[in-house]
Amino acid sequence: MGLFDLFKKKKKSENRLQRSSSNPNSEHYIKEKQLILNDSNKSLEERNAAYLDIRQEEERRLNLAYDFNSIEGINRIPVPCREVNGSSSTGRVEYYLRGQCFARHWDSGNIELALACLKKAQELMYISDMIWKKDDFMRLVYYLRKAGKNQEADIEERKINSYFESKNELRDSFSQRLKSAKELHTDLVEITNSGICCAECAKYRHRIYSISGKDKRFPALPAQFNPKTFSYNHFCLSVWPFVYGVMEPSFECKDFIRYSNRPFVDDRTSEEINNYIKWQMAEQQKLERQEKLRQEAQENAERIEALRKEFLWIQKNLPDLCPKSLSGYSRMKNAKSKSYQKIIQEIHRLMNAEK
Ligand SMILES: [Zn+2]
Repeated sequence: MGLFDLFKKKKKSENRLQRSSSNPNSEHYIKEKQLILNDSNKSLEERNAAYLDIRQEEERRLNLAYDFNSIEGINRIPVPCREVNGSSSTGRVEYYLRGQCFARHWDSGNIELALACLKKAQELMYISDMIWKKDDFMRLVYYLRKAGKNQEADIEERKINSYFESKNELRDSFSQRLKSAKELHTDLVEITNSGICCAECAKYRHRIYSISGKDKRFPALPAQFNPKTFSYNHFCLSVWPFVYGVMEPSFECKDFIRYSNRPFVDDRTSEEINNYIKWQMAEQQKLERQEKLRQEAQENAERIEALRKEFLWIQKNLPDLCPKSLSGYSRMKNAKSKSYQKIIQEIHRLMNAEK
């Protein structure tokens, strides 16, 4: 078989794979396995096998959508990216990148590729609808240090700290509002959304909740909003005390008890969805701009440090030729002045003399 035939054959089999990715059977297959996984009457072995089958199918679909085996491929994954496994958390791109995919490359010694996976996962985690804990973020810092990239690790660590500091502010604001509710002798709060809203937060907005869970007319306040078990990490929602019979909810509906108990689903309008996507893009661009500025500042600092070392060396070894100050030296170097060229000549002379 000629080379061209081989190529054609390869293309054909790739096409077959492509076709099966858009195959509705894949969706059906996962749904069937999920039924087994969630069926408590099935044996543990059966459920475990179903879990592994789901993960395998999710992995296959991910690998059809993106190239996870080269640094270029990883870098090409857009942020935000296109999810290929629906709403499944284990099938998410960031979940796969930082888990299985990272481990496979790291264990086989492809350190740079493995780190590229973690870095991309981290970018996706910052804007994810899924809740990631600080420890999850620190994984990148840990492995950067393990790979000897301490400077990069420091930068990432600072970024993570400032991200979580603003999260604590969020917890404090929720905690403050619940305290106000207590002062108003009400067990009820309203969770509202005034600006942009993501798919996850949309499920919880525009409802009255019972803080204690004892007022059965309303759903209990989910644990993620409770200061003791706080894990909410978005900025879409806010909480307000609500006094029954005195206040009206800020959202519009006919019967707020019934409305508060509607199914917990993403009920955003297409306009709201578009607004959220636009906001997310703008946030990403903002982050990129900040990162670029930070990088420039760091490069500048490194350049000055290198210049200072040169200056100190000249001061010590060629005191007669050395200018009085670092800025003087910087100026003469930039202008490549005669005195600077003299210094260079002397350095060469010294180096040759050493040989
Ligand atoms: Zn949100």
